[in-house]
Amino acid sequence: MAVNLETYQSIHKDLSGEKVTLVAVSKTKPVEDIKELYAAGQRDFGENYVQELLDKEAKLPKDIHWHFIGHLQSNKVKYIAPFVYLIHGVDSYKLLVEINKQAAKNNRIIPCLLQVHIAREETKFGFDETELEEALEHLEHEPLKNIQIKGLMGMASFTDDKETVRKEFGYLHSIFTKHAAKRSFEILSMGMSGDYDIAVAEGSNMVRIGSLLFGTRPAKM
Ligand SMILES: *Cc1c(COP(=O)(O)O)cnc(C)c1O
Repeated sequence: MAVNLETYQSIHKDLSGEKVTLVAVSKTKPVEDIKELYAAGQRDFGENYVQELLDKEAKLPKDIHWHFIGHLQSNKVKYIAPFVYLIHGVDSYKLLVEINKQAAKNNRIIPCLLQVHIAREETKFGFDETELEEALEHLEHEPLKNIQIKGLMGMASFTDDKETVRKEFGYLHSIFTKHAAKRSFEILSMGMSGDYDIAVAEGSNMVRIGSLLFGTRPAKM
């Protein structure tokens, strides 16, 4: 359960040079590990599970930017709405409506990324390109005042075939650039421990890295 500080420093240095934001994915890891990276200067942390995030948020410094990167259920939005910094995986219009409602209750505008399905696996969540366009048009006609769509998020196929991964990230980047100017998108969140270098080469400006920094996790919770 040791944090890999040397790896952190070197990844952080490389990414800052490329103006890429590093989100340290701390899911399943203890608060002590987060404190260690915090002491090294890290402020952006990503979590996948609402209850775990709530427990950690209560125990850790208030200037941490908490990124919710998991699959968010509508009935749990209310718990994280008071403090969440960025919600990465928004994959339905219904969820946007709920985030907007809870943001309004908290007098906030919550920044969100729309998740786009780019992988071959059926199991990964997200809009396809057509659904994304429909959602964006819908928002244009009926704006939700308490959310701000900051950009897109995606996950590549789980494969060793780098060419497949590169194509999938390239595809998401092309969708991002297509909408970026008109919708004032700023963030393209793609890349994890195994593929962040490919993601950055394909235009990512926010990566979500867990196991490289915190060590491997148990197979599945
Ligand atoms: C767990 C997770 C990550 C980090 O994965 P690593 O392979 O450990 O870097 C990134 N993004 C999402 C959406 C995740 O669920």
